[in-house]
Amino acid sequence: MTEARSRRVFFALWPDDEATGHLSALAQSLATGGGRVIRPASLHLTLAFVGAVTSTQVVQLAEIAAAVRVEAFDLALDRLGFWPQRGILWAGCRQTPAALIHLLDALAFELRRAGFAIDHRFGADRVPHITLARRVRCPSLPRLGTPIRWRVSEFALVESHLHPSAASYRTLASFALKGAEA
Ligand code: ATP
Ligand code: MG
Repeated sequence: MTEARSRRVFFALWPDDEATGHLSALAQSLATGGGRVIRPASLHLTLAFVGAVTSTQVVQLAEIAAAVRVEAFDLALDRLGFWPQRGILWAGCRQTPAALIHLLDALAFELRRAGFAIDHRFGADRVPHITLARRVRCPSLPRLGTPIRWRVSEFALVESHLHPSAASYRTLASFALKGAEA
């Protein structure tokens, strides 16, 4: 019997508590006109979406990710963005930081080597970002003053459970970056 591809998984960065606090405050203050503000615990930056896999593949994915050896780095979100078609308000980077590209390259290399295809870098929208709200109206987008920073000391393999209201995410495993091990 073939094992069902019943798990929906992706790799992502989760901001630390302080950055999460800033991001969720921004989301609350800017998102208007109904829609849905992303709850603080769900705020994330997608590195690579894998999609539906078997439980055996989940174990493989965790092994693959553990082989990634990249230095920890500081990430600064310095711009807000809005995609009007789907009403997505997001925070991201004016210029994608080299360290972030390096992490994704290393992960994508290991995934490809093990036969996992990654469709789009940084998710379907191909831009590294943290979605703050969906299906909102955003008549004016302020400039983000002080960048929102955190130390990226790990990345995570996450399972997504889709619900009509909002997806919920569960971290299956976290992978420490170099120089960040406890
Ligand atoms: P919802 O689907 O309820 O709006 P969501 O998009 O966050 O919430 P998922 O669809 O499970 O939940 O997606 C998890 C992450 O992977 C999200 O950051 C999403 O942008 C990204 N993603 C989802 N589908 C794809 C895809 N086909 N290709 C690339 N990235 C994707
Ligand atoms: Mg989705």
